Amino acid sequence: MFVGGLFVSVENILTEYRNKEVAKKIIKRIHETAHELYQKGIDTVKIMHVCGTHEDTLSKWAIRTVLPNGENQTARIKMVAGPGCPVCITPVEDIEFAVNLSNAGLSILSYGDMIRVPGARSSLFESKIKGADVRIVYSLHDAIKYAIENPTKKVCFLSPGFETTAPAPAVEILNGLPKNMYILSSHRLVPPALEVLTTHPALNIDAFILPGHVSTIIGVKAYRAYFEKYKMPCTITGFEPVDMLMGILSLLEQIRDDKPKLENRYPRVVTEEGNVIAQQKINQVFKVTDGNWRGIGNIPQSALELRDEFDDINVKVIYEDLFPQDEDLREIPKGCRCDQIIIGAIEPNECPLFLKQCTPETPIGPCMVGLEGTCRIQADFSVSM
Ligand code: SF4
Repeated sequence: MFVGGLFVSVENILTEYRNKEVAKKIIKRIHETAHELYQKGIDTVKIMHVCGTHEDTLSKWAIRTVLPNGENQTARIKMVAGPGCPVCITPVEDIEFAVNLSNAGLSILSYGDMIRVPGARSSLFESKIKGADVRIVYSLHDAIKYAIENPTKKVCFLSPGFETTAPAPAVEILNGLPKNMYILSSHRLVPPALEVLTTHPALNIDAFILPGHVSTIIGVKAYRAYFEKYKMPCTITGFEPVDMLMGILSLLEQIRDDKPKLENRYPRVVTEEGNVIAQQKINQVFKVTDGNWRGIGNIPQSALELRDEFDDINVKVIYEDLFPQDEDLREIPKGCRCDQIIIGAIEPNECPLFLKQCTPETPIGPCMVGLEGTCRIQADFSVSM
């Protein structure tokens, strides 16, 4: 199959990147390196990833259980999930705005998780139950079909996600939307968030695993300015267990050698330049602005908003009066600790509601809704184990 323009054999992925013997060898080297770190006086290494699919890999393959835990003269390797779930970090005001639009009679179409995620007062799912036209689609393309089939309706596509999910809507928008079709852009950019996480006084991150999907689009070069400024050990990895283990080993070696690098351990998909055509499409449609991240707050130059020439499809311009203005929109539901989960300050089991009042069937916070949410992933795997 072709991934990011490169040919990758499925057979190779399964045999090479899920190979038990290869994995065992890397795990052995991880333990040896953790011992060397211990001898250098390092007792813990905290590695953050910022991708829900990486959390899925960690949990599905129980990778945390094979990492050094600080016993037998090894440094403890602590893997923490950062803000890698696009649904979780979509700002609450965008969700409330979509709810207001649906209550005003617009049809709101978006991905399944976005419909269920709680806002400050309500959710799109609640609007749907009350009779609003709220629908789940797989893409803007499906939303366009719905708009064409329903010309009397005003149809708005709520478009969330990181750099990975921005190119497809950009292409559709450039191709032209039906006259009854509008866009609510909630896209966010990963590199600006790395700076906030790096300088956060409570996090003390030692290294980053960088997201494979996002890096396919933006390329290694997109992280260079951040890396040059902070010299944080960084490795881009893929999503198979051997990918993940190689990424962890690479970071430990960088720390052991005191030689931080920006490494690409996913070269079968990620290139230095990234997907230049996708970047061009994004730049033609979107402009970079400051943006609010749920649970984190404003991050400068981290959002993609529609360019001014697309004002005629931008609901933030057309329906400006319906945008929630309340200063006190509660970001996170009462009792929920998603604000700390999103930045990797705590683990889901440190939230008193985890798998008690808050479950995948009865989610309280956004991190239990999104399939890439840290609480949701760990809940799914703790139930299935
Ligand atoms: Fe929020 Fe539920 Fe996660 Fe607790 S377990 S932080 S309530 S989503």
